Amino acid sequence: MILDCAIIGGGPAGLTAGLYATRGGLDNVVMFEKGMPGGQITSSSEIENYPGVTGEISGMDLMIPWPAQCQKFGLKHDMVEIKRVSKDGDIFKIHKEDGTVVEAYSVIVCTGSSPKHAGFKGENELFGKGVSSCATCDGFFYKGKEVVVVGGGDTALEEALYLAKICSKVYLVHRKDSFRSAPNTVARVKKTQNIELVLNSIPQEVYGDNMGVTGILVKDSSGEIRDIKAPGVFVFVGNNVNNRILRQEDGNFLCDMNEKGEVIVDITMKTTTHGLFAAGDIRLSAPKQVVCAAGDGAIAALGAISYVDELLNH
Ligand SMILES: Cc1cc2nc3c(=O)[nH]c(=O)nc-3n(C[C@H](O)[C@H](O)[C@H](O)COP(=O)(O)OP(=O)(O)OC[C@H]3O[C@@H](n4cnc5c(N)ncnc54)[C@H](O)[C@@H]3O)c2cc1C
Repeated sequence: MILDCAIIGGGPAGLTAGLYATRGGLDNVVMFEKGMPGGQITSSSEIENYPGVTGEISGMDLMIPWPAQCQKFGLKHDMVEIKRVSKDGDIFKIHKEDGTVVEAYSVIVCTGSSPKHAGFKGENELFGKGVSSCATCDGFFYKGKEVVVVGGGDTALEEALYLAKICSKVYLVHRKDSFRSAPNTVARVKKTQNIELVLNSIPQEVYGDNMGVTGILVKDSSGEIRDIKAPGVFVFVGNNVNNRILRQEDGNFLCDMNEKGEVIVDITMKTTTHGLFAAGDIRLSAPKQVVCAAGDGAIAALGAISYVDELLNH
């Protein structure tokens, strides 16, 4: 049997794509998710910016109802890791980790992204408990408080500027004495009164108590350790886009990517390969928010429905 649509990844983008694809009339739709559905937000202890959801709710609580809602309309979940997606004529081949192959007329790739960690002590243990990689998500929790930003690229500087509007003070910790960012952005950072540059300094250890982060130790180039007391540490040292499944045996990708490895899509989430859509954190310029990933998933599914209808009935 050839699937109408294969969805790879079961985070907010994949689950919403599954809801719209099945409810919109596609019959054989399978979501391939290597773990429990829900995606990266399930590691967050609190989400405050999903529309319509008020009160304290964890990322896990937010996502629990999503799979059941999709299954009601016929979405099937195959708990397996996908190794590769290829295309032969009009048919996509979904290569599973056990070596078997499933065929599909359309594919929506929703494998997300993962923030890179800087690798200092306590970072993993306190991730989601004061250590964050998303200012839009977590900045508001530190309104009027001091925070630390780690990194020296465009994202780190843009996020420091964003946080400086909410927080009383931002310590920008960077291992060099110059930034890898647009000169304009660097100038804005330097002009912002409540951003203190902590240059030539490397984070050693983030520490805290059972309520979360309370501070971070950073070492400068002379070996001196500075103890910065702050309840929030934002790490922006890069992001991995989970695009590996699109890499073909010859080393090329199944569709076009930008220089960051993000999948290039148009506003209907179509990639440069017919029948292949991408949604959520994996697509170019993704805002990396649950609501945006969900919106992308819905748009991609509507595109897949039209594509399959066109392919099979015209
Ligand atoms: C700690 C934390 C806090 C956050 N807080 C907020 C917040 O407050 N508000 C907000 O809006 N956003 C927040 N985000 C961002 C939000 O979680 C992401 O933008 C969103 O989850 C992206 O959804 P997605 O579906 O594109 O990808 P993901 O959520 O990354 O889901 C991708 C899924 O694909 C699966 N997958 C990957 N590769 C394969 C494969 N080869 N085979 C099978 N399955 C695969 C993964 O297991 C995963 O479940 C936060 C993120 C983190 C990490």
